[in-house]
Amino acid sequence: MFENYSFTAAERFLRYVRVDTQSDPQSSSFPSTEKQKDLSRLLAEELKQIGIADAHMDEWGYVYATITATSEKNVPVICFCAHIDTASDCSGTNVKPILHKNYRGDDIVLPDDKTQVLKLTEYPYLEKQIGNDIITASGTTLLGSDDKAGVAAIMDLANFLRANEHIKHGEIKILFTPDEEVGRGVAHVDMKKLGADYGYTLDGGETGSLEDETFSADGVQLIIHGVIAHPGYAKGKMINAMKIAGHILDALPKDRLSPESTEGKRGFIHPVRIEGVAEKCTIEFIIRDFETPGLKKKEDFLRTLVEETMRLHPKASFEYIVTEQYRNMKEVLDHHPRVVDYAKEAIARAGLELKMESIRGGTDGSRLSFMGLPCPNLFAGEQAIHSKLEFISVQDMNKAVETMVHLVQIWEERT
Ligand SMILES: [Zn+2]
Repeated sequence: MFENYSFTAAERFLRYVRVDTQSDPQSSSFPSTEKQKDLSRLLAEELKQIGIADAHMDEWGYVYATITATSEKNVPVICFCAHIDTASDCSGTNVKPILHKNYRGDDIVLPDDKTQVLKLTEYPYLEKQIGNDIITASGTTLLGSDDKAGVAAIMDLANFLRANEHIKHGEIKILFTPDEEVGRGVAHVDMKKLGADYGYTLDGGETGSLEDETFSADGVQLIIHGVIAHPGYAKGKMINAMKIAGHILDALPKDRLSPESTEGKRGFIHPVRIEGVAEKCTIEFIIRDFETPGLKKKEDFLRTLVEETMRLHPKASFEYIVTEQYRNMKEVLDHHPRVVDYAKEAIARAGLELKMESIRGGTDGSRLSFMGLPCPNLFAGEQAIHSKLEFISVQDMNKAVETMVHLVQIWEERT
């Protein structure tokens, strides 16, 4: 099916990563940075050139497009989604991608900062890339494969399907989102306009990986009210809210229930921010667990710990406010098993070994799943993301395109 096709994902990728699309967690506008629209505009334009007539960018910077069906059957509408922004952890300005053809396993020294060296011993996945063509940044910026790899693969899927209209598939929706990295990627998605039944984000790592589980997440805001008095005359009167906050933080378990001490399927309680004066102090926590009831347990545990500390200070008081953040997408996906099953089959048809994974975080897909679009995460090939050593291989990107082509055919066959 792919013998006579020259993939365009890598060529597109090399162009897209040069466009600075870093999002900004401090910004309250949407999108958080205007420059993200530079890429959205370019993508909408390129989709039109491919022959996707309705491709456009909306006022928020989202790109919507429809690949029309080639099948007469009533196939469910599938959406492929990727985010255009890059993380704020590492500069995304003036990215200079470098293509290293036919990688032989040697160290790759990045030219603009020679202390940045990509070594096979530190990134064992490179072992699988021997003989492949690898793309890195130049040493002073991230690369942006998270998630321009997903964007480029979806663009190439559109190109492939328009060039091969004999391949049978239902209607396919393309959605490119801004601001995923700041957790607001789906804030302004118009689900009705999108009009899809099921979705896949293309935002994963090694080939064959498929993620159908994310954390469930809540935030807890703890506000401690102390008692204020003139410090010169405070004996027996003052209760310092900051000191109570210190007690509480110190009482948190150190060898369990923390990000520093957990991995795999274990969740945690994590203080992320503290702000206060003697009279009033606020601590913000994030609570994470793969099981939503497990979140409640952790919240009760934290509340008990707070109450125990507060009992030592009867004149002080506190407020404990729990806010839902997102839920494990598996709760939704379990009701739609074919979404994940067909993806598994597509991975097999692409000749890849399946790796089911859980994300110790959230994705646009976890939110979309609860907005009515069951949406697991497919691999895009990205590696060492959010760092200057980020890399991806051309061959992995092409495998992501192949997998999507198989996937849309499977949906058509099973209808
Ligand atoms: Zn991403």
